[in-house]
Amino acid sequence: MITIHENFDIRKLTTFGLPAECGRFIEYTGEDDLQKMRAEGILRDALPLGGGSNMLFTTGSFPGTVIHSTSRESLLRPQSDGSVELTLSAGYPLDEACAMAARVGLWGMENLSGIPGNIGGAAVQNVGAYGTELKDLLKSAVCFDSEVGELVRLSNGDCRYGYRDSAFKHMEYPCRLIVYAVVLRLAPNGAPNLAYSRLAKALEGRSGLTPMDVRRAIIALRNQKLPDPAKVGSAGSFFKNPVVSAAEYERICARYRENMVAEDGNAQADADQLVPGHVNASGEVKLSAAWLIDHAGCKSFSVGGAALWPSQPLVIVNADGHATGADVVALEERIRRRVQSVFGIDLQPEVIHIP
Ligand SMILES: Cc1cc2nc3c(=O)[nH]c(=O)nc-3n(C[C@H](O)[C@H](O)[C@H](O)COP(=O)(O)OP(=O)(O)OC[C@H]3O[C@@H](n4cnc5c(N)ncnc54)[C@H](O)[C@@H]3O)c2cc1C
Repeated sequence: MITIHENFDIRKLTTFGLPAECGRFIEYTGEDDLQKMRAEGILRDALPLGGGSNMLFTTGSFPGTVIHSTSRESLLRPQSDGSVELTLSAGYPLDEACAMAARVGLWGMENLSGIPGNIGGAAVQNVGAYGTELKDLLKSAVCFDSEVGELVRLSNGDCRYGYRDSAFKHMEYPCRLIVYAVVLRLAPNGAPNLAYSRLAKALEGRSGLTPMDVRRAIIALRNQKLPDPAKVGSAGSFFKNPVVSAAEYERICARYRENMVAEDGNAQADADQLVPGHVNASGEVKLSAAWLIDHAGCKSFSVGGAALWPSQPLVIVNADGHATGADVVALEERIRRRVQSVFGIDLQPEVIHIP
């Protein structure tokens, strides 16, 4: 079923809670609705909105059409290899799916517990937390191909997943491939992924762990660090963690050490210890954007109603509930300039900017 609203206020459909209106807002459920919108030429210029938890409407007034799936179906299907397939329609909330999987004792989704948004958006963003990314579970994504007007099935490989990246983010226009349903592969006899040290510590000494135990631990850890979207507006981590070559990492460390020595003549610390980095399998180094922001001295920055969340400076929040998209963009630019001048790194936003 299609419902159309003209000049619609979508502020409450985003977790940032910034002023946001769109020219037309269309809610839909099934493939027929997508066919209808395609026939009317709507999909060429429209923007898909899931749970609005990674979106920043920069001007507060988006003149175009926003489309939103209200379909929330789920199906669990045991497979002959012992795994269980969970099929979710695009509008299914990710955290509800994590809760459902944990309740029935299926492993795989528990580390993604507490992430806002819907499974369609999660498949686009390749959400990740505590050592698990959606790509680790996704078997296939059923998408509506707006060019040919039919449902197509993309394998995990077809989705070309990377760090908060996927093929969906590199299409000619946002509705070219609309995620319609996602198929995840879960394990009834799995084991907890405790690669993340704070999670391992939180569950230390516990035996016979269930997916629900891990889910509860994850939610407790998230509550310590992140704002509750029901109380404080944000879009989660605002910037991506930069990934740099080993040579670039050396340069960043040397530059930071020089700055430290210039500020404090006694600074003798080893540069490698100064800028923490995690070397990945390909030899590249992943830096912590939160650490860079903190050590560039940005933690207390604010513009209008936009500020950084004290326990996690990677998160820009709508601190007083009255911030605007322009406040957030001005704060973002201020942080990027400062991090660039201290470390020579151009932080890239994770949050999607809609003009
Ligand atoms: C408090 C908080 C904590 C967060 N923590 C994390 C975290 O730990 N890890 C993490 O990775 N992210 C995190 N996020 C970010 C966010 O929740 C995820 O990126 C989420 O998966 C986005 O899903 P969504 O449904 O809200 O998508 P939206 O924000 O609505 O959309 C995201 C993108 O996907 C596109 N899109 C949405 N639905 C579809 C569809 N059906 N078909 C095609 N394109 C579509 C949109 O056009 C947009 O480009 C957090 C956000 C908040 C507010």
